[in-house]
Amino acid sequence: MSYNEKNHRARKRFGQNFLHDQRVISHIVRSIRPSATDNMVEIGPGKGAITSLILDVCPNLNVVELDRDLIPILREKFGHLEHFHINEADALKFDFAQLGSAERPLRIVGNLPYNISTPLIFHLLSYSDRVQDMHFMLQKEVVVRMAAKENENNYGRLSIMTQYLCEVEHLFDVGPECFDPQPKVDSAIVRLTPYKTPPHPADDHKTLDLVVRTAFSQRRKTLRNTLKTLLSSEELEALSIDPSKRPENLALSTYVTIANYLFNQSPQSLAAGDNNE
Ligand code: SAH
Repeated sequence: MSYNEKNHRARKRFGQNFLHDQRVISHIVRSIRPSATDNMVEIGPGKGAITSLILDVCPNLNVVELDRDLIPILREKFGHLEHFHINEADALKFDFAQLGSAERPLRIVGNLPYNISTPLIFHLLSYSDRVQDMHFMLQKEVVVRMAAKENENNYGRLSIMTQYLCEVEHLFDVGPECFDPQPKVDSAIVRLTPYKTPPHPADDHKTLDLVVRTAFSQRRKTLRNTLKTLLSSEELEALSIDPSKRPENLALSTYVTIANYLFNQSPQSLAAGDNNE
């Protein structure tokens, strides 16, 4: 451990919980299965716990790190490696298009700060045509919500909007004792694999988002009630949807059916409604 490394104190505002359990770190890297030719990116490498094992197999690694005090530690450990690049930047604002292309898609990895995980994942999904897959350590509850299917308790907007774009796999759980400092919550590793084409394509992504947001604004009510500003019970029935069901009972494909029906009814008025928010 270098002088720098010992003296770096974990910062709350950067969501720093450093992994120290070697068994967990190697389990993560084995699940990623990096290969020598991959185009890898690690977000928030910290002091390099995961970084080091990835570099053992895959030399092409870009890291994006916000805490400038960690940069010298990373440089000292890995700076001599020719294909290792440090991007000192905020991953939420970083343009990932500069690192990958459809021909050289990115494999993204990160033990992410939990406070930014959801916006960061949606930022990354906007590059999904350049992303092969993503492995993240997240708060377990978020992974459970992402992976939930209809009729399950945690099924909601996050499940639908993530599963619309990617295959979601909850790989394994990680307890607080594996980190320093220890987080207050359980964590889990998730694999997100963006679809080349979504299995249930929506004609308009914004309309799908509007329908899902409206439906889940009151998740205990029936669809007849939650969706009444968008369409009537008769229209739901005409789409073979039972209006007495609740938002959590509808599969992603049914939300797409509703969104496509609405968009094809009146594309302009819906778009206008969305802008007025
Ligand atoms: N991967 C390391 C560190 C995890 S802690 C490990 O597993 O031990 C989270 C890391 O994300 C820290 O290094 C923190 O500085 C970094 N980070 C926090 N916010 C960030 C942001 N917006 N962009 C890039 N990195 C960020």
